[in-house]
Amino acid sequence: MTSLPERLASVRQRMSDAAVRCGRDPREVKLVAVSKTHPAGAIREAYDAGQRLFGENYAQELRGKAEELRDLQDIEWHFIGHLQRNKIKYVLPSVALVETVDSMRLAEELDGQARKAGRVLDCLLQVNVGQEEQKSGCEPGQALQIVRSFEECANLRLRGLMTIPPFDLEADQTRLFFAALARLRESLGGASLLPALSMGMSHDFEAAIEEGATLVRVGTAIFGGRD
Ligand SMILES: *Cc1c(COP(=O)(O)O)cnc(C)c1O
Repeated sequence: MTSLPERLASVRQRMSDAAVRCGRDPREVKLVAVSKTHPAGAIREAYDAGQRLFGENYAQELRGKAEELRDLQDIEWHFIGHLQRNKIKYVLPSVALVETVDSMRLAEELDGQARKAGRVLDCLLQVNVGQEEQKSGCEPGQALQIVRSFEECANLRLRGLMTIPPFDLEADQTRLFFAALARLRESLGGASLLPALSMGMSHDFEAAIEEGATLVRVGTAIFGGRD
């Protein structure tokens, strides 16, 4: 059995190796440690090992952990789950980036609540590049219209794109979806407009880095399995 700090170090090493292999600067790729369902104590252990950026999927769970860990002042939270509009209030006080905006309606609601809270909120547009029955993510064909609608949202900053490929695929198959997201970004104005590409999880983050990921979301390889 390896320890959490060892697993974290191993993920970091593999990220760095993948970046170097494809001629990228390893500092361009940030690790989002996905801590959903794992206790605050595990997050603290990862924090003590140097990790600062964490991803959570459930609004109330994020709120609870952010409160429990509020002594960790430079911890940074990304929301990576499906965000219901009535749950925005739970994530707004602590979240640095909402990775899963997938409709104009959600963007408008986030914008309104961010304005009331007196803050500017960074967001990613989640795209369903697989175009399967998966519930979350906009269709690639809707992306341009939603990107434009962000221009009317004075309290949101669109930072890039995010995708979750269909489950149960091998890394070499998910690579096609990562490449598709990178191409979509080019068609929407490229990296200068949309610097962030969030893609890749425990089993395929190296392929994602090779296809241009700037954020990889890794849970199991760091924290172990979830029941
Ligand atoms: C759970 C989750 C992850 C992490 O998945 P692992 O396979 O445990 O690394 C990444 N992204 C999203 C959106 C998730 O829900």
